[in-house]
Amino acid sequence: LMPVPSDIEISRAQIPKPVVQLAEEIGLLPEELESYGRNKAKVQLSLLDRLQTQPDGKYVLVAGITPTPLGEGKSTVTIGLVQALSAHLKLNSFACLRQPSQGPTFGVKGGAAGGGYAQVIPMEEFNLHLTGDIHAITAANNLVAAAIDARMLHEATQSDKALFNRLVPSVNGVRRFSPIQISRLHRLGINTTDPASLTPQEISTFVRLDLDPSQITWHRVVDTNDRFLRKITVGQASTEKGQIRETGFDIAVASEIMAILALADGLEDMKNRLARIVVGTSRSGQPVTTEDLGVSGALAVLMKDAIKPTLMQTLEGTPVFVHAGPFANIAHGNSSVLADKLALKLVGQDGFVVTEAGFGADIGMEKFFNIKCRASGLRPNVVVLVATIRALKMHGGGPNVSAGTPLPKEYIDENLSLVAGGCHSNLRKQIQIAHQFGVPVVVALNVFKTDTQAEIDLVCQIAKECGASDAVPCHHWAHGGRGSLELAHAVNETANKPSNFQFLYNIEMPIAEKIKTIAQKVYGADDIELSPAAQAKIEYYNQQGYSSLPICMAKTHLSLSHMPDKKGAPTGFVLPIREVRASIGAGFIFPLVGAMSTMPGLPTRPCFYDIDLNPVTEEITGLF
Ligand code: ADP
Repeated sequence: LMPVPSDIEISRAQIPKPVVQLAEEIGLLPEELESYGRNKAKVQLSLLDRLQTQPDGKYVLVAGITPTPLGEGKSTVTIGLVQALSAHLKLNSFACLRQPSQGPTFGVKGGAAGGGYAQVIPMEEFNLHLTGDIHAITAANNLVAAAIDARMLHEATQSDKALFNRLVPSVNGVRRFSPIQISRLHRLGINTTDPASLTPQEISTFVRLDLDPSQITWHRVVDTNDRFLRKITVGQASTEKGQIRETGFDIAVASEIMAILALADGLEDMKNRLARIVVGTSRSGQPVTTEDLGVSGALAVLMKDAIKPTLMQTLEGTPVFVHAGPFANIAHGNSSVLADKLALKLVGQDGFVVTEAGFGADIGMEKFFNIKCRASGLRPNVVVLVATIRALKMHGGGPNVSAGTPLPKEYIDENLSLVAGGCHSNLRKQIQIAHQFGVPVVVALNVFKTDTQAEIDLVCQIAKECGASDAVPCHHWAHGGRGSLELAHAVNETANKPSNFQFLYNIEMPIAEKIKTIAQKVYGADDIELSPAAQAKIEYYNQQGYSSLPICMAKTHLSLSHMPDKKGAPTGFVLPIREVRASIGAGFIFPLVGAMSTMPGLPTRPCFYDIDLNPVTEEITGLF
């Protein structure tokens, strides 16, 4: 239809096929499916064992140029591409997407189901609670937080003996350690499983985690942009006996448990990672884990359904896995390893799995390669780099735009010099970044109705001059899969070319060297500057033996540098590293660049102003 109706109107006009029918079409057995209503179902991980000998399909990563407030459309490109590959080229295809956070859905950005005629449907189910995974993550995360504060209170108010009697209760006159406690004893080097044989010194070591309140790194989480929770004080009721301390909330999708869900390759691996989480340090400087708190088994229980990917479909009936949704700027920005692995088996050798990395290629794609591919062992065949003329114009020197104001004429009228400026700066740099990993690039130009043919031709020409294997315009937003046919052909052809994948850095390099490599080779910085706090943390992590982990930078997505207003491809800057944290369960070191916050805030007029429910028809309006 012209003009293209709103995202939610398009979504609502198409009745999805029942998820059981979709599952049968893609070769799932009825017992491998757990339906959540008519339109979505979780898929059992036993499927991986059943398809073990099946060769994997081709693996495509969709990334983008540096985002601007004008939008790029990575999700729409991802969905348009699988619609074209599947419905039009008749190749088995799967999209693997992140589950959206309610932070942006109700905040600034809106949902993440794609848009126009390239969407996951029903978009309201996709954008809201889905199958409850983010709620499970929130519950698990906050159970750990409750365990930390309760444990500190009990240790502060009880003797060693009283603590021991409660932690190892006598049942029918016999005291026994639980399996989690035996594991802790082993780590402490206490080689007995008989509670009666512990010396008073061993009892004290065993019962006292002795957490240093100033060194607790674990935060509570909530999936809302609630800036007033960035810093809070807990324990103020008289029942907490003066155990007052300052702490804070992060957004749930930036949490370590979200990252673990996204990186785990099975239930056992997830359970082990959940047990390895370091929540803080003892007064003697030793790391304290979730297993020390006795909570790791309960975490696995809370997360046991969340580990199964959720099956949905596009407007044209192509299968989609929605699974995990770590933010890309303050987390690792990619959907789950398990969804990709399952999808690669389901599509078979000639099929395609298209997955999306958040924000610009410097952020989501770098983490996709260095963190996700390192964890999964999977190697991508092609990178699709999404660009829009309007965003390129902004990178080429076009004026800034603020929400709610009319688009300046530079973005409506033809302006070849701004387009060329954006291509020669940001687009060129992002193509070079992908090439450093040895993977061929296809540039997908997501066409808006204001783009002119001369502008489109110019982008495609410069992209190829910059080394892209191909560069094509895409019209999926206005025309669905058939609008992305040219892209599908280009991806199919490029996927058959050799890809010489390599990591950007050796995992054994010192932490600061790894950070510097990303800063220089990816962001274009001259150097890095570590704050004294960051330096001290790096020394501590080295001492604890955590230095051989990949790096997950928390950096603004709005610029290749740490300065959000520097568009294009900035040079001549030094990247400031304010703080360095570690997510030992997820398995990465987590430097915070500049003023990056792990809890977003709401603007004056958030998206929720437009969201409403008709109580008679139950129709939702205003989601996009
Ligand atoms: P990203 O994944 O890069 O964040 P999305 O694919 O979610 O971007 O798109 C963001 C918004 O922009 C959606 O609401 C979508 O409908 C809109 N959009 C994307 N492409 C186009 C286009 N070609 N024309 C008009 N609107 C578009």
